[in-house]
Order: sequence, then structure tokens, then C-alpha cells
Amino acid sequence: MRLHTRFHRTAALVAGLGLALSGLAACGDAGDGDAETVDVEVEEDAADAFDDGTRMKELAESGEITIGVKFDQPGIGFKGATDDMPTGIDPEIGKILAASLGIAPEDITWKETISDNREPYLIDGEVDLVLASYSITPERREVVGQAGPYYVTGQQLLVASDSDIDSLDDVKGTEVCSVTGSTSLENIEAEGAEPRGFDTYSECVDQVLSGAVDAMTTDGAILLGYAAENPDELKVVVDPFSEERYGVGYSLDHPEMCQWIVDTLTEAQDGDAYDAAFEATLGQSGVDTPEAPEMDACPE
Ligand code: GLU
Repeated sequence: MRLHTRFHRTAALVAGLGLALSGLAACGDAGDGDAETVDVEVEEDAADAFDDGTRMKELAESGEITIGVKFDQPGIGFKGATDDMPTGIDPEIGKILAASLGIAPEDITWKETISDNREPYLIDGEVDLVLASYSITPERREVVGQAGPYYVTGQQLLVASDSDIDSLDDVKGTEVCSVTGSTSLENIEAEGAEPRGFDTYSECVDQVLSGAVDAMTTDGAILLGYAAENPDELKVVVDPFSEERYGVGYSLDHPEMCQWIVDTLTEAQDGDAYDAAFEATLGQSGVDTPEAPEMDACPE
């Protein structure tokens, strides 16, 4: 167990499951594409670590935080109707951040965000953080804060197993669905496809499964989650053709949150928590645990 001067955090062992992940344990069904959840160690007396007047101090003292995540992206952010908590790399990163504020996973309010409402939710204070396959872009950084990246993926295509599409050239003139307000929809239009925009990726994947569109496009990490759920019907094709750097969204009203996010995630990367979070979630969809990406410097 690593001990740190300011925060210390390890995944706690869950007895009896025998699911060792780099010496850490997780709960859930392993090996079938289902994400698991990792226990985090919640910091005690966390509020003392933060300066008065900071949003971190306020959140730590209130013992509450609202985090916007996706509810329909297996491995990234997923919550079934009867689940208490979402699973996926994004909620796991959210749990690590909340734990550093002394907030336990069960005290986090998880709010479903779709791609198109991530900026409005942050600007209107509907959520304190967004962790929702949220690519860092200069345009988004004009209106919200984005700390990170904590993960880098790239855009690919999801097609029916018997589809002939196997290069980006093949999508020219075909109907390809994605989600409104995403980088993916803009990028595929630039490739000459007929874009079809939906609110959510789960609606889009249904279009591919029913044969209503020729392909779906978004980040490879998202597509691999759907392919893992439907291995006989779907496959992910073409090399990544964009770079999507996932960041943690916060409000520009609280610029001090950036350095806290970067410091907390750097510590998770230096210890075991980042790898454990990854292996328990996207790792279950067959994604290799990546080298933790270097994070951007926070704005002055
Ligand atoms: N990462 C891309 C984006 O932030 C696509 C995935 C999504 O829409 O959440 O737009």
C-alpha cells in the first residue's frame, strides 16, 4: 500500500472474489465484457487539505458532489435501470476525484449527460464535473474547463460482422450515424459520409444492429464496448483516424479545480489506482491498459 503525504488511495481488497488485478481486487463478472467496480480509499479530514474559498473546500465540507457521466456506453460510463451506480472508466476516475475530497462513492450523485449537454450542464452548475468520454478541444475550452487528458483514444467505425466496409474510403456516400454535439459527427462528415445524428450512442448502435445505417462512428474505446456486448453481430474496423483526448470538465467559475484534478490523477497514475480503474472497466472490453498520458498544464 502506498502512502502519500496529502492523499493516499488504494483499491481495497474485496474478500472472496479472487479477482486479482495487479494486486488489487474488483467486483463483478470478469471476462465477459462487463465492467467491474474498484473500491477507493476515501481521504479522511479532506477539507483541511484545501484553501478556504476554493470549490474543493466547499465540496469537501458539504460531503456531496454531482458528476455527469454517460449511462449507455459499456466500459466508459454505463448504468442500467436497476443499478445503484454506474460502471466504466469515467465513473472510476470520478470516484478517485471524489475520494480525495473525502466523499465516498455512495455519496456521489451521478447525473446522466449526453454529448450535447455537457457544456450547458457545467455552465449552469447542474453538475460539478463532467466525465463523459469528453474530448478536450480548443472550442470547448473557450466555454468550460477541461483538465487532462487521462485517456487517449481515436475515432473508428463499428459495422455489422458481415459488412464489406473496411477502409475509410468505403464510407463515402454511405449513411453513418453518430451523436449530435460530438467530435465524431463533425469528423465523419469531413470524410464524405452521409452523417446521421442521434442523441445517444445506444440509439446509434441500434441503427447498425437493425441495418438502418451502414456504420456507426465514434471513439474506438466506445465502439469496443458495444462490440464486446454483441461479438457475433458487430466488429470495429479501420485504424483510428482522429486523436480524442479525454478530459475532466469543470466550470470556468472555479479555475482552481484544474490543478486539483491534475494532481489527484497524477497521483492515481503514479500509484495503482489508475491501472486498477482501467483494467476493471475498459480492460474488460479487451482494451490494453495504456501508458498514462501526460496531462496538459493548467491555464495560468
Ligand atoms: N469523445 C468525443 C467527444 O467528446 C466523442 C464521444 C462522445 O460524444 O462522448 O465528442
